Amino acid sequence: MSSRSDGVFYLTTPIYYINAPPHLGHAYTTIVADAMARYRRLGGDDVHFLTGTDEHGDKIAQAAQKAGVAPQVLADRNSKAFRDEWDALGITYDDFIRTTEPRHAKVVQAILQALFDKDEIYFGKYGGQYCYGCERFYTEKEIVDGKCPDHQTPLVYIEEENYFFRMSAYQDWLRRYLEDHPEVVQPDRFRNELLGFLREPLQDLSISRPKSRLQWGIPLPFDDRFVTYVWFDALLNYVSALGDPGDPRFERYWPRVQHLIGKDILKPHGIYWPCMLKAAGLLRDEATDPAALPGFARLRVHGYWTLGGGKISKSVGNVVEALALTRKYGNDAFRYFILREMPFGQDANFSEEALVERLNADLANDLGNLVSRATTMIVNFSAQTAGAAPTSEAADDAIRTLVGEAGRAVEAAMAEFAFQRALVEIWSFIGAVNRYVDAARPWALAKDLAQQGRLAAVLATLGAALRYLGIVLEPFVPDAAARIRAAVGDARPPALGNTVAEPGADPRAVQRLSGLFPRVDTKASAAAAGPSAAAAPVEGATARITIDDFKRVDLRVAEIVAAEPVPKSKKLLKLTIRLGEESRTLVAGIAEHYRPDALVGRKVVVVANLEPATLMGVTSNGMVLAGSAGETLALLALDRDLPSGAKVR
Ligand SMILES: [Zn+2]
Repeated sequence: MSSRSDGVFYLTTPIYYINAPPHLGHAYTTIVADAMARYRRLGGDDVHFLTGTDEHGDKIAQAAQKAGVAPQVLADRNSKAFRDEWDALGITYDDFIRTTEPRHAKVVQAILQALFDKDEIYFGKYGGQYCYGCERFYTEKEIVDGKCPDHQTPLVYIEEENYFFRMSAYQDWLRRYLEDHPEVVQPDRFRNELLGFLREPLQDLSISRPKSRLQWGIPLPFDDRFVTYVWFDALLNYVSALGDPGDPRFERYWPRVQHLIGKDILKPHGIYWPCMLKAAGLLRDEATDPAALPGFARLRVHGYWTLGGGKISKSVGNVVEALALTRKYGNDAFRYFILREMPFGQDANFSEEALVERLNADLANDLGNLVSRATTMIVNFSAQTAGAAPTSEAADDAIRTLVGEAGRAVEAAMAEFAFQRALVEIWSFIGAVNRYVDAARPWALAKDLAQQGRLAAVLATLGAALRYLGIVLEPFVPDAAARIRAAVGDARPPALGNTVAEPGADPRAVQRLSGLFPRVDTKASAAAAGPSAAAAPVEGATARITIDDFKRVDLRVAEIVAAEPVPKSKKLLKLTIRLGEESRTLVAGIAEHYRPDALVGRKVVVVANLEPATLMGVTSNGMVLAGSAGETLALLALDRDLPSGAKVR
C-alpha cells in the first residue's frame, strides 16, 4: 500500500494546557489521533502515539495561587484529569508526556544551550503590546481595536529585557520550504494561511520570561534569572518524549512525525516550530534523511466545533457538557458521531440531537440490525445446512468484491485523514449487505429443503461480511467491533490483513448479537419540539394503522423457562423464554401480579422483533403481551397448545 512506505508512524496531539478541564475540543483531537493510531496498527505499522499536558506559564501560576497550592500540586491534579479522561474514552496512547517531567526539562535545556552556543539566541530589549491571557506580544497588524484578537481584552504595553531566537533569519527559508512541500500542511488552505503570515516581516521570537514576573517555568540553562517561554518549552515535547537525538526511539520515530493540531494553534506549529527545528538541526526531511517523510513535521490541521441548535437537550451549553455525553450514550456513539460529522479541516456543529440521530440511524439501525439479523440467522439456520454443498451466486461474489473495494477506499481516505469519507465508505458496504440479505431472503430459503446449498452460501457470505466489519470498524467504534469479532468467533488480534472469507469459518462459533447499539427514544422530546409534533397522533386517541403496519409486528408464542426478580426493582421480572430453537432474555413489568415460580412452563405471547432496551441493567429482547384494567393485569394465554415460536396473527 503506497501510503505506508516503511511502516513507522509517529503521531502527536498537542499537549493540552491544564488551565481548563478536558472538553470537546481536546477530546476531538485526541479521538481523531486514536482512530488514526488504531487504523495504522490494524495495517501492521509500528505506531507511536503521543499525547500529554502543557503545565507551565502565568495562568497555571496564578490559578495555583488562587487555589492556595503549589503550582506542581495543581499541575499534578489537572494533568491527571486529562489522563483519566483519555483512559475512560479508551484512548490507546503509547506515551503521555508532561512538561514538568525531568525528562522534558533536560531536553529543553540541552536544545536551548545548543542554540545559544550557535548564536541563534541573543539577549535584547523588547517593548510591545502584551496579552497576559495569551502570554505573548502582539504586533500592530494583529491588534484589533487595541485589543487581543483572541481574548478581546485590552493589551498592555510592556518593555523588558529578554532572550530572543533569531527567527527572522528563517523567513525566506520557511516560505520556500512551504512552497516546495505542499504536503507539509494539510488541508492546503492552512498552508496558504501560513504563507500569508510570511508576507509580513517575521519578528524574532522572545523565548524567555524574567523570573521577576514569572517563576513557573524551565530555567534558561545559560541565565537563571529567566524561565523559558511556554510555547518554546511546549513544542519541544514532541522531541523530548523520544529522548535525545541518538536515542533509538528518537532515531526510529522522529523522521516520521506527524502533528495533529486544531487551527487555533497553527501559527506556533507552522511558523515557530519549523524555524526552531531548522536552527537546532532537528529538521529531518528527504534532503537530510532517506527515512524521513518528504516535507518534515507534517501538520494535520482540523477545524472548530460550534455548539447549538440542539433540540433534545438545551443543557449542552458548553464544551465540557458536550464531552459528558460520552457517559450518556457511550464512547463508541460519541466517537462515531464526531468522526462522521466533521469533515476533517472544516468546522462543524455539535448537538446532542444530531448525535442521537446518527446513533439511531447509522449505529442502531444500519449496523446494529444487520449484526442482529445476520448472527440470528447464522445461529438458527446453520445446523440445518450442515452437509449441504454451498451454491454460490453472483450476489455472494459481489459482497466479497465489495469487501476489497471498501478496504481500498477506506485506506485512501485514511491516508488523507478523511475520517468522514472512510466511514461513508464503510456504511455504504453495510447498506449493500443489508440489501443483500433482503434480496437473498435466508428465512425463506430455510423453509425449502431444496435450497439448503443456497442457504449455506448466503450464511457463509454473511459470516464473512461480519468478520470484515469486526476488523475495519475497530478504529472507529472499538467496543462494538470487539463485540462483533467475539460474536463471529474471531479470536485473532484484529488486523486488516486477516482473511474474512474463509469458507471453513465455523458457523457453530457464531453467537447471536442483538442490541449492539440500543435505540435512543426521541419521541418524548420530539413531541415538545414544535413543528414535528403536528404529525404525531393526538394523545389519548389511537391512530388507525394499515394491515401492513400490523404485519410489521412479529408476534410469537413463547415458553417461559425461567423467571426471577430484577434486583432493586419492585415491578420487574427477568424472564428467560424459548422461541422455537432460540432462547432469549426479556424484562416484564409483572412482578406485582405474578410470582416468578408460577410463570415457569407457561406459554405466553411476545413481540419478538422489538428493539432491545435495557431496564435496570438487564437487556430486554422483546415484550410479553398483557392486558390491564385498573389494578388487574392478565397475561395473554393460548386456549390450545401451540409450539413455542409459532406465529400469532
Ligand atoms: Zn489574548
